[in-house]
Amino acid sequence: MHDVIVLGAGPAGLTAAMYAARGKLKTLIIVGPMIGGQIALTYQVDNFPGFPDGLTGPELSDRFKAHAERFGAEFIDAEATRVDFSSSPYRVWVGEKLFEAKSIIVATGMTNRRLGVPGEDRLFGRGVFVCATCDAVLYEDRKVIVVGGGDSAIQEAIDLAKFANQVTIVHRRNELRACRCLVDKALSEPKIKFLYSTIVEEIVGEKRVQQVRLRSLKTGTASVIDADGVLLAIGWDPNTGIFKGQLDMDESGNLETFGVKTRKPGVYVAGDLMDMNYRQVVTSCGSGCAAALEAIHWLEAQPIR
Ligand code: NAP
Repeated sequence: MHDVIVLGAGPAGLTAAMYAARGKLKTLIIVGPMIGGQIALTYQVDNFPGFPDGLTGPELSDRFKAHAERFGAEFIDAEATRVDFSSSPYRVWVGEKLFEAKSIIVATGMTNRRLGVPGEDRLFGRGVFVCATCDAVLYEDRKVIVVGGGDSAIQEAIDLAKFANQVTIVHRRNELRACRCLVDKALSEPKIKFLYSTIVEEIVGEKRVQQVRLRSLKTGTASVIDADGVLLAIGWDPNTGIFKGQLDMDESGNLETFGVKTRKPGVYVAGDLMDMNYRQVVTSCGSGCAAALEAIHWLEAQPIR
């Protein structure tokens, strides 16, 4: 029996585990797909306070992990497959293996959205990709399309431009959602071009991506451009499937939260799942800290520990 199980090991989950373990809770963290979550897929983190020279996403992830381990958090390097939050202690399964805890911190984050166009699934991993950090090196001197107009699209385009010889950002509106600081950086990079009010209709290629069929939403004109890769940066969906029927959520899987609290006593939410606005590493860490402090206070208030 643990005091708290943390689900997910992105910045929110790792910070929650560090605070909980330091607060003397017997803490288990069930990692999920990877240590660091989305940040492990980020090449350079330039806006985490205390690191004025920046550091890589994987390096920051390792530091978060080491920090939680230092205070005794235990790690299970697997994904939770089922939960039962109907009564206390709360139960979490990894396959057949059952773990129990009095309190839960849900920090399972988000997963990349897909376009749903022909060619996308067939060519996924063969030119269609979602992570510049992981794959940019494969596009040395090649042409890449980046789809999206948010911070991720622009950041990934900047990272890709270090390798590719041409990066075209294709965005469905005529206005970007990304912050000015990133847009200015992209505008000053001659390898990056912008195509506004344009959608991807098909990704074409036999064994690998070769071309992308586009349509202008302004003129209705179809066009085809050569490309060796298509990076999808069109946002994220919540990883909340296993909480269906256990925690309140809307039809898109977004959890109902009250700050870091849910309606279930002792069950808290941290990271992107409780923050639709900021979704920064530092804000995720903040909510991870808040969730752990809530769990500590809640457990202290229970009659038997
Ligand atoms: P996002 O802000 O939700 O942006 C998604 C983009 O994809 C939007 O431009 C959206 O277009 C477009 N899009 C969505 N569905 C589409 C579809 N089916 N077809 C074509 N385009 C589609 O997601 P994000 O860029 O991943 O950012 C998520 C959060 O992480 C944000 O809060 C962001 O600030 C943060 N973040 C921060 C940094 C940083 O600080 N360096 C880096 C990465 C991410 P519309 O604009 O028309 O809706």
